[in-house]
Amino acid sequence: MTRPSFKRILLKLSGEALMGPGQFGIDPDTVAGMAAEVKAAKDQGFEICLVIGGGNIFRGMAGAAKGMDRAQADYMGMLATVMNALAVQNALEQMGVETRVQSAIKMDQVCEPVIRRRAERHLAKGRVVIFAAGVGSPYFTTDTGAALRAAEMKCDALFKGTSVDGVYDADPKKVSGATRYDSIGFDRVLAEDLKIMDAAAVALCRDNNIPIVVFNIRQAGNLAEVLAGKGTATVVLN
Ligand code: UDP
Repeated sequence: MTRPSFKRILLKLSGEALMGPGQFGIDPDTVAGMAAEVKAAKDQGFEICLVIGGGNIFRGMAGAAKGMDRAQADYMGMLATVMNALAVQNALEQMGVETRVQSAIKMDQVCEPVIRRRAERHLAKGRVVIFAAGVGSPYFTTDTGAALRAAEMKCDALFKGTSVDGVYDADPKKVSGATRYDSIGFDRVLAEDLKIMDAAAVALCRDNNIPIVVFNIRQAGNLAEVLAGKGTATVVLN
């Protein structure tokens, strides 16, 4: 199958992608590796929006499971995504890539609020725009935030960086001989509850016709390869 071609992409990284060998938090070398992936994609001429999760620091559901109020815990999770965004911003700028962070929860001393038209200007000037704090509301995830920003910024695709190289008919880490799909329909992903992103995020991409490209971000150089139409990935589309 020929992959669709893209100019502007939204790259979603989970917080765990920043964790490195540890079980928690931010590993500077790993963050630098992720930033290098983004820089390589940028150097290929792509316009890049970034959304980073917070699961390496705090997840609302985990807090709620231990007795916290869910909404309160979710706000902590959103703040965690801002910390990750600042870490990635720092790493990108140390590599000479201009960036701006826009947060869905206002924190003027730290970063800009989300302003779509301003984000457009940043992209036009060649900056990477990092969207933090998800959608800015509890009971959502950064996957949904990524789908929302991809729609708002009219991205050609949402790139979901994971630890596997696409969508399989069974968990490839558990089932030997699991088969990877080159492409798969949104409706099938939803009907079979394939765990690519949460259902709200998948539905938002389906309704706005934004393909989701599932690929392995942990393999150095892979984002650039997949963007060039070469690397291994699964494209979810209508
Ligand atoms: N979160 C939220 N609303 C949002 C985005 C995130 O409440 O719009 C909270 C939620 O508690 C979530 C946490 O922030 O668990 C971290 O985000 P996520 O779990 O999506 O991070 P990832 O799994 O991608 O690292």
